[in-house]
Amino acid sequence: MGADHPPFGRAGHSTDFEEHVVSAPTSPADLVILGGGSGGYAAALRAAELGLSVVLIEKDKVGGTCLHRGCIPTKALLHSGEIADQAREGEQFGVKTSLAGIDMDGVNAYKDGVVSRLYKGLQGLIKSRKITYVEGEGRLVSPTAVSVGGRTYEGRHVLLATGSYSRSIPGVELDGVRVIDSEQALGLDRVPTSAIILGGGVIGCEFASAWKSFGVDVTIIEGLKHLVPLEDESSSKLLERAFRRRKINFELGNLVSSVQHTENGVKVSLQNGKEFEAEIVLVAVGRGPVSQGLGYEEAGVAMDRGYVLVDEYCQTNVPTVSAVGDLIPTLQLAHVGFGEGILVAERLAGLPVVPIDYAGVPRVTYSEPEVASVGLTEVQAREQYGDDVETLTYDLGGNGRSQILKTQGAVKLIRQKDGPVVGVHMVGSRVGELVAEAQLIFNWEALPDEVAALIHPHPTQSEALGEAHLALAGKPLHAHS
Ligand SMILES: Cc1cc2nc3c(=O)[nH]c(=O)nc-3n(C[C@H](O)[C@H](O)[C@H](O)COP(=O)(O)OP(=O)(O)OC[C@H]3O[C@@H](n4cnc5c(N)ncnc54)[C@H](O)[C@@H]3O)c2cc1C
Repeated sequence: MGADHPPFGRAGHSTDFEEHVVSAPTSPADLVILGGGSGGYAAALRAAELGLSVVLIEKDKVGGTCLHRGCIPTKALLHSGEIADQAREGEQFGVKTSLAGIDMDGVNAYKDGVVSRLYKGLQGLIKSRKITYVEGEGRLVSPTAVSVGGRTYEGRHVLLATGSYSRSIPGVELDGVRVIDSEQALGLDRVPTSAIILGGGVIGCEFASAWKSFGVDVTIIEGLKHLVPLEDESSSKLLERAFRRRKINFELGNLVSSVQHTENGVKVSLQNGKEFEAEIVLVAVGRGPVSQGLGYEEAGVAMDRGYVLVDEYCQTNVPTVSAVGDLIPTLQLAHVGFGEGILVAERLAGLPVVPIDYAGVPRVTYSEPEVASVGLTEVQAREQYGDDVETLTYDLGGNGRSQILKTQGAVKLIRQKDGPVVGVHMVGSRVGELVAEAQLIFNWEALPDEVAALIHPHPTQSEALGEAHLALAGKPLHAHS
């Protein structure tokens, strides 16, 4: 840790907060956190664990987007979709099943039950670590203070973690009924007959997948050339092929020119003249930082297009202010928020910290099939290493477990010639679970030979990773050389 990031000791700091007091403490806390989502609450939990006094300010519900409007409810929705697909497809496996229908009230009760159990657990954690939890909308009023409803909370350090909101396209207004965002989509009490999804990124593809499983006629409109455009092109193409098989429609490389209400729904017109009609439109074109009007600029915090700028230790240009999560221009993922929050807490407690290698963060799109990756895409690897790059693609057709599941896809490895694996890209049902091993391979800079020497359990999908490394090490087993 550099000298510009001095930790502060415990001597003389207040530790006399009661649990969940809502009155303003008289002496400064070690850390005042604005926003109780993944980034903010992770910092709060870790800082408290390390003995720092913490005030956590949240205007809505601790857990933020991920728990209440993002990761968790969408994955519950996708799981209901998976059950629907299994019911529909039972005969392929010799089991006589049929899908009688989707009961959206039942789906929502299941989804909300998952969220509320986790929410309770998180509230319990916050309480048990003696974090001062303040309900209300906060505003940064100085480099060391946040005000909430007329009270001011002083901190030796302030962490900004106010997260992000759903962006829209200029001229496209969300009305919450026909034209909705992901939060409103999660609250639907019916299955629409048809939907147009603007945006073929992670969120758009996940909703497309879940809704298709529920029987919705889905069309995705994506302005770039591919679905999940941040992934390796090979993964995008495999997902597109799978979506075509599932009859999920998509229009790539075309921009929206207008969205208009019709008698029965909405009409989306593209700049190339094409038109699409559906019952609803989901706008999933990305998320922007929540920072407007919160006093950040007035306190001297450097910003860029609403994002708070930080160094590799999540420290802003103001020495007493840090920022984490979707508010800063790093990967907008819950586990990135957790990692950044922990980093800040440990830095402030005086522990040695190392910057996060963002390329080493696993990324998963939980559609059917899933897309998972870690490290560089082939394009990025070639930018970095020139021609000194080797790739290998192992088709899941050779993997027993994937055949049993009737899933198609591949594991693609990218390595620096004669060097370590620098990228792993996977497509197929359940491959999100395999990315944990891929992350170890990437982050420990493993050579293909080293991974090839590890015996993978049979029959699992993880064998596909083992087989891909065997092949890349020049000794393919269940693959043609
Ligand atoms: C539909 C969807 C699906 C997603 N799926 C995944 C996934 O599967 N995996 C994954 O890793 N990520 C996923 N994400 C992204 C993930 O949710 C975010 O990256 C993560 O929540 C960011 O955490 P954060 O703490 O920065 O912000 P947030 O979680 O948005 O938390 C910010 C908190 O600050 C509070 N706040 C804001 N302003 C104030 C104020 N003035 N005063 C007090 N409180 C305030 C808000 O109420 C909020 O609770 C998904 C997102 C969406 C929308």
